[in-house]
Amino acid sequence: MARLLRGAEVTAALNERLRQQAEALTRQGIRPCLALLRVGEKPDDLYYEKNAVKRCEKIGVETRLIALPAGADTGMVLAAVEQVNADPLIHGCLIFRPLPPQIDDGAVRAALCPDKDVDGITDGSLAGVLTGAEQGFPPCTAQACLEILDHYGVGLSGKKVTVLGRSLVVGRPLALLLLARNATVTVCHSRTGEEEIRRASRQAELVVACLGRAGMVDGSFLSPGQTVIDVGINPLPDGSITGDVDFAAAEAVADALTPVPGGVGTVTTSVLVKHVIAAAARQNGVAQNGVVLQ
Ligand code: NAP
Repeated sequence: MARLLRGAEVTAALNERLRQQAEALTRQGIRPCLALLRVGEKPDDLYYEKNAVKRCEKIGVETRLIALPAGADTGMVLAAVEQVNADPLIHGCLIFRPLPPQIDDGAVRAALCPDKDVDGITDGSLAGVLTGAEQGFPPCTAQACLEILDHYGVGLSGKKVTVLGRSLVVGRPLALLLLARNATVTVCHSRTGEEEIRRASRQAELVVACLGRAGMVDGSFLSPGQTVIDVGINPLPDGSITGDVDFAAAEAVADALTPVPGGVGTVTTSVLVKHVIAAAARQNGVAQNGVVLQ
């Protein structure tokens, strides 16, 4: 029976560290601050916003809400981003995406200063992930997977890892982060053959599923002793959510497994706050003093 890698346990430990770091910065006159930029009122965005604001408050990070009407055009969003870039009291910015179709997403991503890109959406942040340079931040979900593995002491160096999915939000940056930690990484996607994806998954010691396909990772993808990280959040007709991994099959065969809900998703918001605190430290030149980071 697999050991469950619970997000709440990771979040509790992380939040306590972050609270101390936010307090240390605040004592130095630096109050970490996150701007949340939303266009329209999509229920998912409002839900995430509420949770992010609550988490920030608990940890001691300030928030500024910037809400634009659903009909806002690219110019209005760019003006809001410029305002964020120019404000020295705002250290990080989360832009709710996907943006409405009339808005040029590429232009918005390009406008945000990578130093304030705490959700890893700019090319500057992705370049930082690629090169390992301290530039921007990795996407929060990809980083959340590492936080879970680190918390539970799952070593990565020399480990055979298969990442199922290659999106810019999760699979691709996560594969690079794992590579930087000396894992041997295989990445599978929709053009990987049906047999090959199962074989690559079975042969891994660590499997990360970020496919957006409910329950696709069944027993034929798994082998005994594996650690399985399920990033998938797939809505069910009854309003609940399920992961990409067939939970019962994985629980029976794997060594360790993240549940859905209660796994990766739980940790993502704390990673966002971690990035805001790190951004505040970096922008004020205190990141080197051991006050903040990792
Ligand atoms: P995405 O952009 O749709 O990417 C899905 C990836 O899976 C793509 O690389 C795609 O391949 C691959 N794929 C899809 N169907 C496949 C199949 N049948 N066989 C092999 N590969 C397949 O999704 P995403 O944004 O990365 O999100 C993935 C999942 O994570 C979703 O369930 C999402 O809700 C969840 N998520 C969770 C969090 C969190 O905080 N826990 C955050 C973000 C996303 P191609 O590249 O070839 O199309």
